[in-house]
Amino acid sequence: MTDLSPLDAAGVDAAVEAALAAFAAASTLDELKEARLAHTGDKAPLTLANRQIGGLSPEEKAQAGKAMGAARAAMGRALAARTAELEAERDARVLVEEAVDVTLPTSRQQPGARHPIETMQERMCDLFVSMGWEVAEGPEMEAEWFNFDALNFDPDHPAREMQDTFFIDPPSSGLLLRTHTSPVQVRAALERRDSLEGGRGIYVVCPGKTFRTDELDATHTPVFHQIEGLAIDKGLTMAHLKGTLDHFARALFGPDAITRLRPAFFPFTEPSAEMDLRCFVCGGDDAACRTCRGTGWIEWGGCGMTHPNVLRAAGIDPEKYTAFAFGMGIERTLMFRHNVTDMRDMVEGDVRFSQQFGMEI
Ligand SMILES: [Zn+2]
Repeated sequence: MTDLSPLDAAGVDAAVEAALAAFAAASTLDELKEARLAHTGDKAPLTLANRQIGGLSPEEKAQAGKAMGAARAAMGRALAARTAELEAERDARVLVEEAVDVTLPTSRQQPGARHPIETMQERMCDLFVSMGWEVAEGPEMEAEWFNFDALNFDPDHPAREMQDTFFIDPPSSGLLLRTHTSPVQVRAALERRDSLEGGRGIYVVCPGKTFRTDELDATHTPVFHQIEGLAIDKGLTMAHLKGTLDHFARALFGPDAITRLRPAFFPFTEPSAEMDLRCFVCGGDDAACRTCRGTGWIEWGGCGMTHPNVLRAAGIDPEKYTAFAFGMGIERTLMFRHNVTDMRDMVEGDVRFSQQFGMEI
């Protein structure tokens, strides 16, 4: 084949036929490229024959040139046509192979969600921080003195009984799991009492876990969360307490929310009050309301003016300063604010429960 003469018309035709057959047989663009190099490349018989034209006589040159031109044109047309076919095939195949099936199932790896107790606690704290209050935290394992004595509990107060409180072994340790967040109030007051002398009041909220020996059921859990507030300053009265609670209620339940105080008794406040929230669902107008059970009011927490004995325990003179305090359960707030009907849903850690609340309440 290498000695194909440009004047050998049959030989040139045969070479062209071979090239066209090879182009037609190529089933991919890569195979077509190989065929093109084999039949039109530097070492192809027709390329080599073409190079001989320079050494021919003028008549032979014209004849050979015409034949070679026709051969190149035929191969060029065949090559272009086959290239177009194969490119169209490739494009059609890519459309199928690389198509995205949007109906395929996903990996089903769900994003998590923050627990609503946590986000509710932060939301409550943020409100008080925005008013200039501080957030104070304390240990969950607490000295009995902070949990009871400093809060004016009598030594024989029933809350100190074993059936209500988790005591830490040995009994002589004087330690327990705090039954409320109130001991943090005493700690916060002790730490900050110098600021009173400096003319600045003490304003803290204390959120956190608390523990009581309750069985887990729809309305009880042995581990629950409270948030308490404590304000100590000169001249504080129940009016300041009521105003603070109304502001708190409006921030969580809307601009029309109001609170009501009912006389109560707690060892650490005098006077003491239970705090009710005007039902934000029915406003007291629906005897069949499930949120307030038709009473028009929802029990939210306890509050009062801090007992002078508690201030004394924190080294603060109750003749010079007065204080108010309030506290509520975070689980309970979530239950009536979001219509959570079973306490266990908040404890069991099923992410589907948390996801209903999203990242923010
Ligand atoms: Zn109601």
